[in-house]
Amino acid sequence: APVLDLAAIRADFPLLGERVNGHPLVYLDSGATSQKPQAVIDAEVAFLTRSNSAVHRGAHTLAAEATELFEDARATVAGFVGAQPEQLVWTSGATAGLNLVAYAIGNASAGRGAPASARFALAPGDEIVVTETEHHANLIPWQELAARTGAVLRHIPVRDDGTLDTDAAATLIGDRTRIVAFPHVSNVLGIVNPVGDLVALAQGVGALTVLDACQSAPHLPLDLPSLGVDLAVFSGHKMLGPYAIGGLYGRSEVLEALPPFLTGGSMITTVTLDEAQYLPPPQRFEAGTQPVSQAIGLAAAVRYLDAAGMAAVHAHEKALEARMGEGLRAIPGIRLLGDATEVERVGLWAFDVAGVHAHDVGQFLDARGVAVRVGHHCAQPLHRRFGLTASVRASAALYNTPEDVDTFLDALSGVRAFFGAGS
Ligand code: PMP
Repeated sequence: APVLDLAAIRADFPLLGERVNGHPLVYLDSGATSQKPQAVIDAEVAFLTRSNSAVHRGAHTLAAEATELFEDARATVAGFVGAQPEQLVWTSGATAGLNLVAYAIGNASAGRGAPASARFALAPGDEIVVTETEHHANLIPWQELAARTGAVLRHIPVRDDGTLDTDAAATLIGDRTRIVAFPHVSNVLGIVNPVGDLVALAQGVGALTVLDACQSAPHLPLDLPSLGVDLAVFSGHKMLGPYAIGGLYGRSEVLEALPPFLTGGSMITTVTLDEAQYLPPPQRFEAGTQPVSQAIGLAAAVRYLDAAGMAAVHAHEKALEARMGEGLRAIPGIRLLGDATEVERVGLWAFDVAGVHAHDVGQFLDARGVAVRVGHHCAQPLHRRFGLTASVRASAALYNTPEDVDTFLDALSGVRAFFGAGS
């Protein structure tokens, strides 16, 4: 199997060389946002320094060059997830992508975009199915859509071991199901969900599938068309890229039939004072000035990931995950969330420390240079399911080392004694 040159990779990420609170930084919060390699920073700077200009407008040389760079970036990022350029819509992030889809379906439900859009229209009593593991970004837009259309929101429960209850899903997904939205990998559990099973259930009843790929895109080889989902979102800042950029992938016939959400400049063909005709995808969904330098930065990020090799990235992070899981299980008073066996995982563990609040654990680790995330990680229902309001989450990326994991485990093993909660 291919391996990563960790020393070379780490040298590419300027921030990883920093010290925090007198200690070398151990960054285990890539699930929240990843660090950026110099190549990404340079790509944005180079664009702003030498090529900055309005895309898709104007006849001048710089505008043409900027447009070419912007559309090349689309092709690069689309290719990274196995898609065609016209199947990739730029968004400001995964949250924006999911809201785009929910609002577009809301517009279809209100009779906009007909006749092709009618297939997406929701009627009172239609059902939207999500999972109990959802990040709020893949939950609240559906709650809002249900409230606007009279549709009913249902959820696939999670089992005690963190796996989705696919038996329950098989009964839940039925004649009234119109949309099935779920994460590829939960940002709390780290388990790779059985996408194929859920897609098959959804397709069996003609429901639209929406995949939240935020926590898979940076960590494993991803081919969205072969997963069979209709729509999927991912987030640039979690995959070595800039902030304020993300992708919405859609199967061509789905994007072509979907009405727009945001409207305005750059997404039209003809406009009168009374009405407008819209461009085909992806432009139909890209109203207004786009995040151009961010798109170019994201293209540099996926080129970086591609060069490392996503199979090697996944294998490396799996080894970190195994080391972390083993170490965590050996520390008394630690309860792992989603400790299922025989599942595929990414390098992420959330856990509870008996007798110590997650925020205290976070501060204790931070004092030792270890950065983790604490809180509900935008997944309150999932925490409630496990009887918690907060947890600690350590999440790795391709640049983490086994030594990072050991430093984290060493520090953590002293936390209960420090807070008088046992040894
Ligand atoms: N879904 C999941 C699973 C996530 O982890 C996140 C980021 N925490 C989001 C959605 C939201 O992504 P963005 O920051 O791009 O809006």
